[in-house]
Amino acid sequence: MQRPAWRQALAQAFTDLPSLLAYLEIDPSALADTAHADRQFALRVPREFATLMRKGDPDDPLLRQVMPDSREMAPTPGFCADPVGDRHAKGSPGLLHKYHGRALIIATGACAVHCRYCFRRHYPYTGGTATPRQWREILDYLKADPSIEEVIFSGGDPLMISDHRLKAWLEQLQGLPQLKRLRLHTRLPVVLPQRITPELTGLLQSCRLSTVTVIHANHPNELSPAVEHGCQKLTEAGTRLLNQSVLLKGVNDDSETLARLSKRLFEIGVMPYYLHLLDRVAGAAHFDLDESVILRLQRQLHAKLPGYLMPKMVREIAGEDSKTPFQSVVELPGSRHTPG
Ligand SMILES: *Cc1c(COP(=O)(O)O)cnc(C)c1O
Ligand code: SF4
Repeated sequence: MQRPAWRQALAQAFTDLPSLLAYLEIDPSALADTAHADRQFALRVPREFATLMRKGDPDDPLLRQVMPDSREMAPTPGFCADPVGDRHAKGSPGLLHKYHGRALIIATGACAVHCRYCFRRHYPYTGGTATPRQWREILDYLKADPSIEEVIFSGGDPLMISDHRLKAWLEQLQGLPQLKRLRLHTRLPVVLPQRITPELTGLLQSCRLSTVTVIHANHPNELSPAVEHGCQKLTEAGTRLLNQSVLLKGVNDDSETLARLSKRLFEIGVMPYYLHLLDRVAGAAHFDLDESVILRLQRQLHAKLPGYLMPKMVREIAGEDSKTPFQSVVELPGSRHTPG
């Protein structure tokens, strides 16, 4: 069988920094020391995503998301390997059941892009896709708890799995009468829009469950015409599109950029859902922002957008029974008229 085009594109992704920098026409000496940070968490960037980066600009907001940095190697107090408590969550191998009614399946550990801020960068994936045995255990877990009515495919990136296997899994899930909704959490529609194959949209279209696809874009520059086209095909397949972002210092930490992101998402048929405050995962401290800065940002963004384009700003706190909203009710001294 011929490899699908998206697999071929994936095989051509940048996996070493010198090639990526050469392509971007960036002089390596213009960059902060990377100090082998990519040995701990490899560099990985699909070519199509790299074409959206500005040539010659080491501060490009897309490049910053994927660029290994020596600061990742410095231990920082408060930043740990498992900031959201996944290793102690209820479930079975490959399944996290933290919140009422929803179970999250780690469908695979693989991703098309390696985001330096990823909270799962240290997650002990058993490697590759869930095994048939794990999958049986997952189904048994779901059957044993009829309060679960939504399954979330996450990872890694669940769309790294072949359409063939997705089809088999979906068929089994659809056989569970308790399930109402299926959700995909995936960055592939953004970093590899070719992944939206006719087979995939066909699967979504024919699914008995209501489907929700949560894409992951952090900056408006990520939303190219190809991404728009892919989202259009997903919409036509009847899946509802949402976006989640992570608030990242040096990438999207200004209200102008975030407002443009929300408006561009809306233009391509995607509603802003979450704007996550950074999970305090070891290696990501250089993306963190002060709470006072975040509060100001939240206010400025709210003032720029219609309410329905305002993402919910949340933090994930281990042990809580939902994501925790970031409260803007605290009055920050002197913040009301802060310019900027
Ligand atoms: C974030 C998350 C969910 C989904 O939460 P929503 O608020 O419904 O988007 C479900 N399970 C786990 C383990 C999660 O981390
Ligand atoms: S899980 Fe998501 S955030 Fe983490 S590396 Fe993969 S695509 Fe990036």
